[in-house]
Amino acid sequence: MPARDFFHSVERIGPVQIGTTRSRRTGQTVHAAVCTAERCGWSANYGTRTAAQLAARTHRCRVR
Ligand SMILES: [Zn+2]
Repeated sequence: MPARDFFHSVERIGPVQIGTTRSRRTGQTVHAAVCTAERCGWSANYGTRTAAQLAARTHRCRVR
């Protein structure tokens, strides 16, 4: 799982992992939500942790 290498403060909500990372370009903190389910591949970046958590909770995996 390559995501683990650059994430810190990883949190898990269901199959979705939320990691905080820093954009190398802007230096801003980015909250990335990534679904760890195989064959799902969903991921998205958010400006706030709350938004990432909400997205993780509402994410519906196609593979279950
Ligand atoms: Zn998923």
